[in-house]
Amino acid sequence: MDKVLANRAETDHWDVEHVRQEFPILQSTMHGKPLVFLDSAASSQKPRAVIDAISHYYEQQHANVHRGVYALSASATDLFEAAREATRAFISAKHDHEIIFTRGTTEAINLVANTFGRKHLKEGDEVIISTMEHHSNIVPWQLACEASGAQLKIIPLQDDGSIQIEDLKNLLTARTKIISLVHISNALGTINPVKEVIALAHQHDIPVMIDGAQSIPHLVINVQDLDADFFAFSGHKMYGPTGIGVLYGKEKWLEDLPPYQGGGEMIKKVTFEKTTYNDLPFKFEAGTPNIAGSIGLKAAIDFLANLPREAMMHYEETLLDYGTKLLTGLPGLRLVGTAPAKASVLSFVVDGLHPYDIGTLLDHQGIAVRTGHHCTEPIMDRFGISGTIRASIGMYNTHEEIDQLVAAVAKAIDMLK
Ligand code: PMP
Repeated sequence: MDKVLANRAETDHWDVEHVRQEFPILQSTMHGKPLVFLDSAASSQKPRAVIDAISHYYEQQHANVHRGVYALSASATDLFEAAREATRAFISAKHDHEIIFTRGTTEAINLVANTFGRKHLKEGDEVIISTMEHHSNIVPWQLACEASGAQLKIIPLQDDGSIQIEDLKNLLTARTKIISLVHISNALGTINPVKEVIALAHQHDIPVMIDGAQSIPHLVINVQDLDADFFAFSGHKMYGPTGIGVLYGKEKWLEDLPPYQGGGEMIKKVTFEKTTYNDLPFKFEAGTPNIAGSIGLKAAIDFLANLPREAMMHYEETLLDYGTKLLTGLPGLRLVGTAPAKASVLSFVVDGLHPYDIGTLLDHQGIAVRTGHHCTEPIMDRFGISGTIRASIGMYNTHEEIDQLVAAVAKAIDMLK
């Protein structure tokens, strides 16, 4: 596999048929029709390399990490730490110990909101997020604000689903303690100008957390170039397994924050009088970690790193443009999220029709899309809708699949009207 795809890298050409062959599930059917999987923003499918790495680990390599003196445990530890190093390199972080393994983006954001909240938020302080956040970048901050008496401030959303830097500037005060912002919106596809936001925040000594759940599978991420203080993502949206994710944090912040959860691994010495905490990254990794998940994540990273990422991004853009053009030609259909900088998401509503009804009819055609609020209810409220139909694009989707989507939506509109 690696060889085939590495050759593609040399030619900088996106051979979608070769890529599709790496994903066993794409050969399957749904309701007797070939599966058209357009829900990668919820969770992407897995290449054989990831599936094989996990089963190989359980067949031949499993033991608990950082504990045993025996060879199997030592080599499992090496694999686990190799996954950390691969993750560091993938996002161009400075140190391995700036990579904390979590269950996913949600746990990574909770970790920061909880520990930053306990240490740095007090009555009257302010936390800035935006209207387009996933619930997992809203609720943890609400909890932190409730516990500390701090207040949430919200960057408003423009009609096209973008935010304006001016609006952020207007929200900044001497009491702003942290900004937490999504990189790419899962419901709208908007790509936020996070580098600009971070530069602005740093002029005021405000740290920034980036929710990278949707950007990690599509963009090349360099946390040092972004100068992000925290960056969170999930394995399962980047062609890796579920149950593993990453919190990147700058060393100075991770050193500064108190532990999140207590338990094994995160301590240096425990007595009933006083417990001292372990060094980074272990301070934030209480309990037996998701070892198989980390190995699967490394396999996904190796898989992605072997691909021509520029060509992939360009290809995904052409699919998005193609879908945008065709869908907007359908009667009564309106795209939700039309910002100039967009990736991978086609969210839409059809006048007079419920998203769920359209989603169900698409399912009968073998087309998997998501319907509903996509865990972003404030966006739906902003646009006065209850939900959208969302087709989201992965590296393996084709122009033919977009044609099938559009034809099926047209048919659904006909049937339901
Ligand atoms: N943020 C965004 C933008 C997301 O799309 C998602 C997943 N839909 C999350 C956070 C939460 O990710 P997870 O469920 O993997 O923790």
